[in-house]
Amino acid sequence: MSIEKRETVHITGVSHQGEGVGRLADGRVVFVPGALPEEDVIIGDLAKEKKRLVAPIEEITLAHPERVVPACPVYHACGGCQLQHAAPALQEEIKTRRVQDACERIGHLDLTVLPTLMMADPWRYRNKGIFHVNEAGGEARLGFYGAAGHAFVPATDCLLFSQAVNNLLKDLEKRITATGRAGHIRKVMVRQSFATGEIMLAFITEDQAFRLPKLADSLLADYPNLTSLWHNVLTNPRLATGRAWHHLGGQRSLSDCIGDLQVHLSPASFFQVNNRQAKVLYDQIRHRAALTGRETVLDLYGGIGTIGLYLARDAKSVIGVESIGDATRDARDNARQLGISNASFVTAKAETWLPRQVKDHPAPDLIIVDPPRKGLHDRLIDTLITSKTPTIIYVSCNPATLARDLKTFHKNGYQIHDIQPVDLFPQTAHVETVVLLQKK
Ligand code: SAH
Repeated sequence: MSIEKRETVHITGVSHQGEGVGRLADGRVVFVPGALPEEDVIIGDLAKEKKRLVAPIEEITLAHPERVVPACPVYHACGGCQLQHAAPALQEEIKTRRVQDACERIGHLDLTVLPTLMMADPWRYRNKGIFHVNEAGGEARLGFYGAAGHAFVPATDCLLFSQAVNNLLKDLEKRITATGRAGHIRKVMVRQSFATGEIMLAFITEDQAFRLPKLADSLLADYPNLTSLWHNVLTNPRLATGRAWHHLGGQRSLSDCIGDLQVHLSPASFFQVNNRQAKVLYDQIRHRAALTGRETVLDLYGGIGTIGLYLARDAKSVIGVESIGDATRDARDNARQLGISNASFVTAKAETWLPRQVKDHPAPDLIIVDPPRKGLHDRLIDTLITSKTPTIIYVSCNPATLARDLKTFHKNGYQIHDIQPVDLFPQTAHVETVVLLQKK
C-alpha cells in the first residue's frame, strides 16, 4: 500500500524494535527504521505493517551528532542488531529512555530510571548463538533470516561472537557441504565459555535418525577446544530447539563463570549470553538485596541457579525454582561443586509452586523474579501480593511487561525504587533492568 507524498518527519523516540518514531503532519504516528531520536528525515512511501504505519528513510536532513557508520557489513540486511548506527552514548540514552517510556505509557508510573550501565568494550560479547543452515546449489552457508523480507543473510563474521567461533563456523560450512547432506541440518547452536574458551556445538535437525559420525568425529579431532558435541531434534519448527538432546561426543557440559562464580551448563539450560555484563547485573541485585546472612531467599525463574548461588553465601538459605529439569540439575551440580550447602533447587512452574509454598511455609524475606519476555504470570503476581512478601527484586528483559507488572504492584501497596537498566545486549535495542519493590 503506497500512498501520500514525501514529508519530513522529526523523530522523537525509538520503538522497542529500535526504529525511530515520529509523527506525520496529520498527527499519525510513523515508525522509521534506521532513524534516530532528534533527527529530521524525509520519508518514502508509507506502508501498513500490523496496524502500524512504517516508512523508509529517503534522506536524513538533520543527522544526530552521535550517528555512526555501522561496523558490520550486513547490519541492515541481518536485523540481529538494531542500534549499530548509534554511538555508545546514544545507545545508552535510547535504552534508558525506552525503560522510562514504558513506565510512563504502559505503567502510568512516575519512576526514577537510572542511566543504563553500559559495557566498556561492547563487541564480541555473546557466548551463545543459533545459526541457520541454508543450502544453495549444494553449498551450506550459516547465518540468520534477516530483517527485510526474512531473506537469508550469511553471517560467519558476526561481531557479537569471538573470532574463534566465527572461524569454526566458516570451517563448518565447508564440512557440512562436504557431507552432501546440508539440507538435513536446520540450525547449529554454538556456545563458548568465556572462562576457558571451550566450545559446545549442537546440530539441530528435524530428522530424529540424523547421524553424521564422520563429521562429528573429525570436528572433535581437529578442534581441541570443541569439548562438547550434541544433536538436537526439533519437533516444532517455531521453537529454537527441541526437547530431545543426544550427546555425540566430548563432555556433556560446558564450564563458565559469572564473576568468580563458576558454573557448568547443559545444552538446554538458559545462561546469560553476556558474562561480563551479567556480573554487573548480579552485583546490582546483590546491592539491592542487602543480605545480612539471616534471610530466606527465593530465586524464581532461576535457570541454572546463578543468581541464587551468587547470593547464597550472604543468605541463610536460597531456593531456586525453574521449569526446565536439565537446568535444575545443573543448578544442583553447581551448588555441590561450589560447596554451597544452603541452596536447594526445584523443577516447577513458579506460578504453581509459589502458591503451595507460601501456604505451608513462613513468607520468605526476599523473592527474586527473573521471568522471560512475557513477564510474570497473573497467578504469581496475585500470590506475591496476597502473601505480603516484604521485598521483591524484579529482573526483566522486557520493559513493556515490566511496566505492566509494576503497575499492579504499585496499585497493591508496593513502593517501587529506582529502576536500573543494564546493557546486556550492546548494539541491539534490548535492555535488561533490575528494580527493588517493598511492601509499604
Ligand atoms: N535467573 C536466571 C534465568 C533467567 S531466564 C539467570 O539469571 O540466568 C528465565 C528462566 O525462566 C529460564 O531458565 C526459563 O527456563 C525459566 N522459566 C520460564 N517459564 C517459567 C515458569 N513458568 N516457571 C519457572 N521458570 C520458568
